[in-house]
Amino acid sequence: MSEYATVPPIADLPSFLPKGVPLRENVSMAPYTTMQVGGSAEYLIVVRDLGLLAEVASALHAASVPHWVLGSGSNLVVSDRGIPGVVVINACDRIEVGTETMAECGCWFQDLFLAAAQAGLEGLEFAVGIPGTLGGALVSNAGAYRSSIGALLTAVDVVWEGVRKTVEPEALEFRYRDSILRRPGGPRIALLRAWLRLEPGEPHHIYNLARDYQRQRISKQPPHPSVGSFFKNVLDRSLAESLDSLPASLKEAGVIPAGYLLEACGMKGLRRGNAIVSRMHANFLCNLGGAKASDIRWLAEEAKRRVRDQFGVELEEEVLYVGDWSGWEAAN
Ligand SMILES: Cc1cc2nc3c(=O)[nH]c(=O)nc-3n(C[C@H](O)[C@H](O)[C@H](O)COP(=O)(O)OP(=O)(O)OC[C@H]3O[C@@H](n4cnc5c(N)ncnc54)[C@H](O)[C@@H]3O)c2cc1C
Repeated sequence: MSEYATVPPIADLPSFLPKGVPLRENVSMAPYTTMQVGGSAEYLIVVRDLGLLAEVASALHAASVPHWVLGSGSNLVVSDRGIPGVVVINACDRIEVGTETMAECGCWFQDLFLAAAQAGLEGLEFAVGIPGTLGGALVSNAGAYRSSIGALLTAVDVVWEGVRKTVEPEALEFRYRDSILRRPGGPRIALLRAWLRLEPGEPHHIYNLARDYQRQRISKQPPHPSVGSFFKNVLDRSLAESLDSLPASLKEAGVIPAGYLLEACGMKGLRRGNAIVSRMHANFLCNLGGAKASDIRWLAEEAKRRVRDQFGVELEEEVLYVGDWSGWEAAN
C-alpha cells in the first residue's frame, strides 16, 4: 500500500472519481466495524453499484490514491489515528442462485447461505454465524467446522492493479485463513463478484447442520464487540503431540487452537483500559465500551509475547490492522 502517493485534497478527489460518487470527509470508522474502535477515515465512499465500484477502484488506483475496499469491518482493527486515504465500503449485494451461484462481494455471507439453502443447495452451512460480507470472507478464506469459502469458488471478478478482469480461484492463492490479498506487498485487488459451486442437498439436512453450528457458536462466543477469533490456530504437529491436555483428535490433526495456548498463558480476563481478553474464550479480545484500538493492540502483543515465551511459537493475527499505526506503542 505504501507505493501510493499521499492523498490529494478533497477538492481534487472528484477529478479522479467517476461523476456523482458521494464522498464524505473525516468519517469515524468505529460504527463501521464490529470491534467499534479506532479513528476516522480521511475520506469515505459507500458504493452500491458493481460497475461503479469497479470504476472507483480503477480510478483511485490510476491516480495512485491510497484506498481500501472494506466490507462490514468484522475482521479488522482500525488504528486510533484513523485511516489516511479513501475507504470504499462495498455495499453491492446482488445474489443469483443457480447451477452456478453468482454473488456480489458486498452481500452478507449469511444471506448467501440463506439464499442457497432456500434453493436447496448445500455447502455454505459453516457460514452461519460468520458476520461480514462475501468479499471479506474471500480475503481471509473464512471458514469454520473444517470448511472454508475458497474451496467453493469457481471464478471471481476483480479489479487487479487497476484492471477489471475475471480470474480463476488459484489466482487468489487460498491457504488457511489467508489469500494473496493479505500478503504484505501483494497486488492491489478489489473483489467485485464471485461464482460458487454448490451441490443440491436435502433441505432438512442443510438447516439442521446450520442450526447445530449456530448452537455451538452461541455457547462459545462472548457477547461483547469483537472480531471473532483474534489469532489463527497453530499448525504444529510436534507441539500438538507434546501438549498432554490437548484432545486426541487435535493432536492427530496437529492443530492447536490459539485459545488453548492463550488460556494456558493466563490471558483470560487480562484487561487494558476498556479492552479485555474474554473470560469465556481466550482468543476473543473484546471492547467493553469505549476501548481504544491501542488497548486492543497492547493485549494482542502481550498475548503473543506470553505464547512465544511459554511455547516457543509465534501467534499470527487472523484480524487485520488497518490505518496509521505509527507510534501506537509510544502513545500507549
Ligand atoms: C463474532 C464474530 C465471529 C467470527 N467468526 C468467524 C469464523 O468462524 N470464521 C472466520 O473465518 N471468520 C470469523 N470472523 C471474522 C470475520 O467475520 C470474517 O473474516 C469476515 O469474512 C470478514 O468480512 P467483512 O466484510 O467484515 O470484512 P472486513 O472486516 O470489512 O475486511 C476484512 C479485509 O478484507 C478486505 N476486503 C473486504 N472486502 C473486500 C473487497 N470486496 N475487495 C477487496 N478487499 C476486501 C478489507 O480491505 C480488509 O483487509 C468472525 C467475526 C466476528 C465478529
